[in-house]
Amino acid sequence: MSAINRVHTASEWGDSASQLQIITRRISSISAVFTMVAAVLNPGPHWAIIVMLSSAYAIYNIILSWRRRQPKLGEFAANLSLCAGLTLAGALYSNVLYHLLLMQMVLKVGRGRDRAMRTMAITLVYLTANIIRADFVAAAFLLEMVYNVMGFAVLSITALHMRKVMEMQMQHEGQIAELKRQNAHHYAMAHTDELTGLLNHRAYLEKTADLPQYVLLVIDIDHFKKLNDTYGHLFGDQVLTTVGNIIKIGIRNKDMAFRYGGEEFALVLPGTALELGLKIAERLRYQVANCNFFHNGESVKITISIGVSCKNPSADCQDAFREADSALYRAKKQGRNRCVVF
Ligand code: GH3
Ligand code: MG
Ligand code: MG
Repeated sequence: MSAINRVHTASEWGDSASQLQIITRRISSISAVFTMVAAVLNPGPHWAIIVMLSSAYAIYNIILSWRRRQPKLGEFAANLSLCAGLTLAGALYSNVLYHLLLMQMVLKVGRGRDRAMRTMAITLVYLTANIIRADFVAAAFLLEMVYNVMGFAVLSITALHMRKVMEMQMQHEGQIAELKRQNAHHYAMAHTDELTGLLNHRAYLEKTADLPQYVLLVIDIDHFKKLNDTYGHLFGDQVLTTVGNIIKIGIRNKDMAFRYGGEEFALVLPGTALELGLKIAERLRYQVANCNFFHNGESVKITISIGVSCKNPSADCQDAFREADSALYRAKKQGRNRCVVF
């Protein structure tokens, strides 16, 4: 997506250039009021026309800035006509309205050629209206014209540059957001076990490193090697996925389930009492033992053994794992399909 397109979609009054356009419209209204006050305080022959035109200008631009959308070509033509009317009526301080209009129309989204055309139109209307109004063309008048046209040029270049900088800024913001999204995706990939969708061993090490207190369940599928040998690795993988799901479904938001490696899982239950941890372990063991696994229509019984330990703030997270692992070893020795607390 090109930078221009990106701005186009985001520009319905989100980006800085659009904000600047709103501000410019508001200042236009204030300037028009200023022109109106000047006509009342210093009334010339056409003061009533100036009051009418400048109040129309002010109200029109207040409404436009309210509607918060990109300036349309019709609005540009209406504003430019009002400017010309004010000049022809001899309004004081109306030059600034041309400058502000120019700023808006150069900031407007579009091709460079369109911007150049708008600048030309403003310059031509400005010059024509002033020449028509002037009684005679003196040197001072010509100097003022040249001075203002130079002002138009400087303002156009400045607005053009500002638009470019803002577009680049938006592009960078988009790139940063994309990089952040990719980073989050890579982080998730690096910390997730592909088969079960649980957190992996790396995540276990990172997430438990600074956790002060938790109950740890080390869960191991019984006789898994024999299961693989009898029914094949594919079936073994299905069993791993199902057991992973059983573990995942029952946990609370703050709990964390990991595939520690092979057919071993770890469940970390922060802020949990040991008795509750044992109850959760017993529930998991019961759920797996009563789950129906089928291989080619034949029912296969799967069981798990669980070692439970408690990590206290003063203890080391490696100690907690060692204790749960040793409890698991005892569960295996005592005949499997059971939960043992360290
Ligand atoms: P125990 O009851 O004492 O735990 O015995 P076990 O057979 O479950 O334990 P053992 O450590 O002897 O065997 C674990 C087996 O798990 C060996 C390995 O082939 C298998 N295994 C490890 N990872 C995977 C895997 O991702 N998919 C499959 N299908 N098998 C795996
Ligand atoms: Mg095993
Ligand atoms: Mg094992």
